[in-house]
Amino acid sequence: MRPTFLIALLLLLLVEACSVAEDPQSRLAEAGQLDLSGWNFVSQGTVALDGEWEFYWSQLLTPEEIAGQAASPQYQSVPALWTSYGDGMPVKGYATYRLQVSLPEDEQVLALLHIGQGSSSRLWVDGELVVSDGDVGTGKGEIVRSGRPQIIYLAAQGQTMELVFQVSNFSHRSPGFRASLLLGEADELTASLHKNSVFESVYMSLLLGLALYHFFLYSQRRSQIISLWFACLCLLAGIRLGVTGNDMLASLLPFLNWEITFRLEYITFFLSMPSLALLMRSIYPDDLDRWFLRLTLSVALAYSLFVLISSTLVASYTVPSYQIILLLEVVYFVYFLLRIFWLKRQGRYFVGAATLVGLLGLVSEILSFNGLLPFMASAPVGMVGFVFVQAAYLATHYSSSFRKVEDLSARLEQNLHELEESEAKYRGIFEESNDVIFVADKTGRIVDISPSCEDLLGLTPDEVKGNETNVYASASKQDRSRFARRMGRDEMVREFEVGLTHRDGRKIRVVLNASTRLDKHGKVIGIQGTVRDISDRIQAQQQRERADELELIASTDPLTGAHTRRYFDDVVAREMARSARNNSPLALVILDIDHFKATNDNHGHLAGDKVLVALADLCSRHIRSTDIFCRFGGEEFILLMPDTSLEDAIQKTESLRRLVAAKPLVEFNGIEIAATFSAGVAVWNGEEDIEELIARGDQGLYRAKEGGRNCCMSGEAQAA
Ligand code: GH3
Ligand code: MG
Ligand code: MG
Repeated sequence: MRPTFLIALLLLLLVEACSVAEDPQSRLAEAGQLDLSGWNFVSQGTVALDGEWEFYWSQLLTPEEIAGQAASPQYQSVPALWTSYGDGMPVKGYATYRLQVSLPEDEQVLALLHIGQGSSSRLWVDGELVVSDGDVGTGKGEIVRSGRPQIIYLAAQGQTMELVFQVSNFSHRSPGFRASLLLGEADELTASLHKNSVFESVYMSLLLGLALYHFFLYSQRRSQIISLWFACLCLLAGIRLGVTGNDMLASLLPFLNWEITFRLEYITFFLSMPSLALLMRSIYPDDLDRWFLRLTLSVALAYSLFVLISSTLVASYTVPSYQIILLLEVVYFVYFLLRIFWLKRQGRYFVGAATLVGLLGLVSEILSFNGLLPFMASAPVGMVGFVFVQAAYLATHYSSSFRKVEDLSARLEQNLHELEESEAKYRGIFEESNDVIFVADKTGRIVDISPSCEDLLGLTPDEVKGNETNVYASASKQDRSRFARRMGRDEMVREFEVGLTHRDGRKIRVVLNASTRLDKHGKVIGIQGTVRDISDRIQAQQQRERADELELIASTDPLTGAHTRRYFDDVVAREMARSARNNSPLALVILDIDHFKATNDNHGHLAGDKVLVALADLCSRHIRSTDIFCRFGGEEFILLMPDTSLEDAIQKTESLRRLVAAKPLVEFNGIEIAATFSAGVAVWNGEEDIEELIARGDQGLYRAKEGGRNCCMSGEAQAA
């Protein structure tokens, strides 16, 4: 919100306050005489009794004494400081003033308004003492004066009225008859004085109330230093308003005599600038220079201290110099305001408007005090303006901070809720996991571990966490240093295998996945990870390897390395199915070594074995990779040839036969041993079973043996 309307309102208030005392008409007196005989106070208003009064320097004369004076009097202008008179009267001194006023003939209820002087004074009206403010005397007496405005009702008046006014000054730098006496219609004067005091008391109580309220705010929230400085400023403005003008505060608190209120007026005036600076710095810490704050504060404190300890007369001389300092400070504040606007600081409209109104009040008071403005302005009223807008700003400031806090706590609650959910989720995973999940601190001590550790190690989580049993101890020293090395290098390990010991002494094998835990600054605070039991996996693998081995043993002939009969049984069905599917011929050859018994008999069984091995090796090396060569039993072999016709099978067998028969197969004890084989060939007819096929192969073999051995015959003819 841009508080333009607020500023307008405040300016209005300011103008209104300035014009509270309606400008009295002035009919200047001449030679101690003022003719108001033709004046109508009701229609023409109040008259200031200004002009030439009779003036008796260094004399305190009563009306009777003046009447007895023979010498013709001096005349001096009123209102004025007597130091400004041509003769140059000293500051300290005393004098009597006298004026005779011709009053109108018609009956009017009149009154005098004496708004108080800076000095002690006494006033006689028609020989009757009506005002006695302080000790009027020839030396400095006790200063007990109010300086408060007084109304004197003129009960019965004659044609002329004689005013005798004594003034003595020993306590202020501005001596003399310096504030006009006003003569006017009684009701009107009373009303204007009343109006004035109502304004002042309303403003004063507002300021003091705000001060109290913000002191309370500050006492509740010490972090809001803004409240404190604002309260101070309100308090200073409130007190100053209370001790100037109608002196409201002194009316409320009788112990506040003139001396005290005089000092309060000065000190509150001095301290208001540093308070403003403190407030601004608490709102815009980066924008109000520290040097300015320090300077303002120390100057104000020095002046205040001086006013406290010196006499009122000496103290009263501080004001002019401080006004100059203050104007310089105002210049700085204008610069400061431009700065916060230039930098587009938050709340600049409020704060700017408030400060501007405050400064305007201050400057106009200084100017009017020095006679540079045509009207009387009041800094406290400007202060009230400042305080209003500033209070409005603080209210928005507080409510926006409160909103922020509300938002924050709502978000916090939401986060907490999400955190609880996620915690529950992860707790569930943690509790239910088959793998062991662990968290360790920097020293390696386990701080949290999932319940599954009991299955893995036989230790409860509490036992592990309590470090009753060192879980690391069962790992080998080598594994442990390897783990530490990897962790140090990569900040994690993946599928790290390690052996541990179960509580019951059983060795177990586990894989470890772990990574370092970091705090928000990226510093290592420990590790976390999972441990999985792989003992079962290893066992299963070993069993599988063993089965493969057995399988191999079963399918390989230990002597010759050729496939076994069992292997043949396994593959032949598959080959028959493939042959049927592809409609390709499948040939079978049965080989039998000729007169092998004789070889054994002649060279020994060992030599016979060597022949078997050599023959199997030779044949295996000369068949196609798709052909399957098996030892069928004894010195009999079987050769299964997929995708091979009878002719091709015979041809292939023939070439093998020739190869074997071509040269001796082995040399044993220096004797070369040769061997031949006979073979029977059959091609599967697509219908017969394996026994029938083998039987036909056998027929071929039988025929080959019959036919003289070392030859190859088909079993086809027989079968057909
Ligand atoms: P034929 O030409 O009629 O087949 O005559 P043969 O002597 O080879 O036939 P027979 O079936 O009478 O003899 C087979 C011999 O093979 C008998 C056996 O001692 C021998 N034999 C069987 N298995 C092995 C073996 O593993 N090693 C050795 N050295 N000899 C074996
Ligand atoms: Mg045989
Ligand atoms: Mg044989």
